Amino acid sequence: MLEKVLIANRGEIALRILRACKELGIKTVAVHSKADESLMHVRLADETVCIGPNNPIDSYLNIPAIISAAEVTDAVAIHPGYGFLAENADFAEQVEKSGFKFIGPSADVIRLMGDKVSAIKAMQKAGVPTVPGSNGPLTEDKERTVRIAREIGYPVIVKASGGGGGRGMRVVHSEAHLLNAVSVTQSEALAAFGNDMVYLEKYLERPRHVEIQVLADGQGSAIHLGDRDCSLQRRHQKVIEEAPAPGIPDDLRNDIAMRCVKACVDIGYRGAGTFEFLYQDGQFYFIEMNTRVQVEHPVSEIVTGVDIVKEQLKIASGEPLSLRQEDITISGHAIECRINAEDPKTFMPSPGPVKHFHAPGGYGIRVDSHLYTGYTVPPYYDSLIAKLIAYGGDREEAIRRMRNALDELVVHGIRTNTPLHMELMRDSNFAAGGVNIHYLEQKLSR
Ligand code: ADP
Repeated sequence: MLEKVLIANRGEIALRILRACKELGIKTVAVHSKADESLMHVRLADETVCIGPNNPIDSYLNIPAIISAAEVTDAVAIHPGYGFLAENADFAEQVEKSGFKFIGPSADVIRLMGDKVSAIKAMQKAGVPTVPGSNGPLTEDKERTVRIAREIGYPVIVKASGGGGGRGMRVVHSEAHLLNAVSVTQSEALAAFGNDMVYLEKYLERPRHVEIQVLADGQGSAIHLGDRDCSLQRRHQKVIEEAPAPGIPDDLRNDIAMRCVKACVDIGYRGAGTFEFLYQDGQFYFIEMNTRVQVEHPVSEIVTGVDIVKEQLKIASGEPLSLRQEDITISGHAIECRINAEDPKTFMPSPGPVKHFHAPGGYGIRVDSHLYTGYTVPPYYDSLIAKLIAYGGDREEAIRRMRNALDELVVHGIRTNTPLHMELMRDSNFAAGGVNIHYLEQKLSR
């Protein structure tokens, strides 16, 4: 097993990783910005290193500072969590070149899947269904672009190959707007991602977001841990996630999951990963792969009983996967609500001192949070302060438990989006299951 792991992240995920390390007897190094001295995992870690000032550019994104911290503390591996440097292939490469293990796939695989055009090509080769589209970058040839869009049929979406975080995309409803949309997306992509490559996809009008969780050891073995539905989104940010995705026929969900498993083996994937799909009219369409642990991983852990972060650590230590697909069964239902420090109506961030924090509990409730009474939520980072996860023998029981948990949750001093979650847990369309990715925005605009 790894002797000492440096956790290159903050907040709830850093605490999640620390807990898994402690369980496995791994020593921990917490790196933090100036503002984050009093984070829960910093207090609990074996060693701590301040890697820079509050601005993430100077701390959590500061590659030389993180690698130096690993050197001075004799860490053997670096866990990037999610966000920050988690999908940065250059970081993975520099970590490995400096003699540490990167807890995730190889830099080459991150690069392959990080570029959407190359990811789509790799998936098509592996037999994973993709969205009908240009099957490659658009060129200078404007007539060709117009022809491709006609073949796909409007509406189409122009997407930047290097895009991420919901940026670098533009929906086009008619030919009159196509070429302008392409050139605007190209210049935006060049400015934001340093790469002006764009491509076209059919724009699906009412899809759900359904994703497959995988684990692979990079030694030829891979398994899946079933699917999650993350359709409740605002500005492409997930708000509620659940496992399994409701109402999908088992033969379809098993077929797509096994295709993902095969794709992992084909591309030499190592670690935990997620294949994201749009799902509409009984069809799955691959949109991208996340080559890291995801915020919503707990719902899959709850319904499978597999600790995904511990598996990441075991895989990074070089152990072959001990789990086989036959060992994995999905039982019951799990829902996660992302509690953010933000105004429930305007969604403006609401950082500040937490005067009182009380976490809900009881059978079937899990709370992943770094909050404690007296902690001050800094204004510099993501507003996620807690994940409430409710398990039930079935979906209805999970929803009922989540309602109780939301009622019990107390966060005084800052505003949170808890009222929004309370409303969604009483929403009849959510209760029916299977709303599409536009549902939440449409509800909010009403
Ligand atoms: P990012 O890397 O920025 O998250 P994705 O490719 O995952 O980009 O797309 C983000 C979101 O944009 C999707 O969850 C979906 O809401 C929307 N989207 C992307 N491609 C399509 C498409 N072809 N049709 C409809 N919506 C899409």
